Amino acid sequence: MSKNLNPSCKQCKAEGEKLFLKGSRCLSSKCPIIKVKETTKKGAPQRKRKKKLSDYAVQLREKQKVKRVYGLMEKQFRDCYREAVRIPGVSGLNLIHLLERRLDNAVYRMNFAVSRREARQIVVLGHILVNGKKVTIPSYLLRVGDTVEVKSKDLKSVAEAVRIQKSGKVHWVEVDESSLKGRLSSLPEVHDLEVPVQPQLIVELYSK
Ligand code: SF4
Repeated sequence: MSKNLNPSCKQCKAEGEKLFLKGSRCLSSKCPIIKVKETTKKGAPQRKRKKKLSDYAVQLREKQKVKRVYGLMEKQFRDCYREAVRIPGVSGLNLIHLLERRLDNAVYRMNFAVSRREARQIVVLGHILVNGKKVTIPSYLLRVGDTVEVKSKDLKSVAEAVRIQKSGKVHWVEVDESSLKGRLSSLPEVHDLEVPVQPQLIVELYSK
């Protein structure tokens, strides 16, 4: 396996699963996580079994994983959690909804960027309109029904992202690829996410 892994892949390796942090590489056989699994299947010696983690360690790992998936720092993530607890409903699901409603995430979900990191850049650089108005804040929270549009129609990175469809088609956004316009039509359930997460573990962690 290549030793020259970039930081995104290292984050997946740290979690032992695909977090889909890069572009087309995540969907290809070049993904180091796929390579490890294939090597293991072919009968390569398995690594030593990991020792059983404490409940606290499991909760901590889950938080770290979700932070990595959405590309947030601790303070941003904790603020998000506080808001999830404050609003009515199940805190774990609220947390996921707040993360999914972020503008950078929606740009990624609509396949206008190959990763959330790239989506963030597109937003910051002023290429995105929300309900027809320019918004440059990646953490801007969309409401169901809001529209998101790529203002700069000739961006090569967007055309490539639309071609690759990295995020796949998810049922909670509607996208018109010809006009580079999308709409947040609903919010996902936890089981809809491509990376399996257990938000209740994060709630348990922060509730201590
Ligand atoms: Fe790297 Fe993407 Fe594979 Fe993660 S899923 S290891 S970011 S290629």
